[in-house]
Amino acid sequence: MKINIEDLLRDNIKKIVPYSTARDEYKGAKVDIFLDANENPFDTSLNRYPDPHQIKLKEKISEIQGIPKENIFLGNGSDEVIDLIIRAFCRPGIDKIMIHPPTYGMYQVAAQTNDNDVIKVNLTNNFRLNVDEILSHANENLKVFFVCSPNNPTGNTFDVKDIERILSGLNSIVVIDEAYINFSDKASWTKRLNEFPNLIVMQTLSKAWGLAGIRLGMGFASERIVEVLSRIKLPYNLNVLTQQTALNALNNIEIYEQNLAILKSERNKLVSEFSEIPAIQKVFPSDGNYLLCKFKDANKTYNYLMNKGIIVRNRSNQLHCENCLRITTGTPEENIVLVKYLREMNLEIGN
Ligand SMILES: *Cc1c(COP(=O)(O)O)cnc(C)c1O
Repeated sequence: MKINIEDLLRDNIKKIVPYSTARDEYKGAKVDIFLDANENPFDTSLNRYPDPHQIKLKEKISEIQGIPKENIFLGNGSDEVIDLIIRAFCRPGIDKIMIHPPTYGMYQVAAQTNDNDVIKVNLTNNFRLNVDEILSHANENLKVFFVCSPNNPTGNTFDVKDIERILSGLNSIVVIDEAYINFSDKASWTKRLNEFPNLIVMQTLSKAWGLAGIRLGMGFASERIVEVLSRIKLPYNLNVLTQQTALNALNNIEIYEQNLAILKSERNKLVSEFSEIPAIQKVFPSDGNYLLCKFKDANKTYNYLMNKGIIVRNRSNQLHCENCLRITTGTPEENIVLVKYLREMNLEIGN
């Protein structure tokens, strides 16, 4: 199938001329006195508007990822990237997105905000994509399919062959949300952007980079898609503090690598410790920093842990996740406390 991005983009979006900021006009020139943006001239360290194009940050991300900066879009969290993708491609009231429950909840919320129906193709009960059913929805005004891999909350990464079939068989944008890719040993789809014009890969600084508080999400895609998203974003979507903090973290990659190694090893340690705990019936394999665990009674366990001051995510109402809790990997000290309480639980509540 020949996929043409121009046919997928909304017509009104193609025509939008972006708001030109004062900062757009001085780019590159040597300026000593800034009297162009009605800013306050007294130095509070934050009296200037941020770079709307986030050039320094994109150059650093480009260097780390080996991806040209023209293929990088930065948003106020992945949530902004999800929202902009939907608004760029989906006509309200007409077009649809597709998701694969159980998965991350924001795709559906963003679609509903823009009045787009959500097609749901459930994962099989061994958490695989149902490729035939997914492909059967091609051309039903389906504009965007969100694949979360590694998937939240199940933890697994989807089969490469399955995703390849979807990328070439579905005449729509395929977003692969790689929020947890850093915790996985599998390859990122960013390496394959050139092969698939309809591919958008999302990553974030919120998880492995430990910067959920600054709100920085990344979208990697063709130059055309990045250009469109950049044109419709809010001009100053990443504030000065976010850009500075992100750049600082990306320049100290050793700290990131150290913490990542600890979290991966702690996750693997929890898998083996959980396997010895009678109340845990199953630990699903995970490429993320969390473990989906099946308990004899998830609600009881959830309340028990809550009373001990530990909060986990109760996913027991999600498809294929009956009696499941999603437990994030903590620090080594926190994990010791968690395992201790789970071991004692049998005695305390006879679970
Ligand atoms: C945590 C998470 C994100 C991150 O969202 P941000 O807005 O970047 O913090 C994205 N996708 C999934 C599936 C997640 O679990």
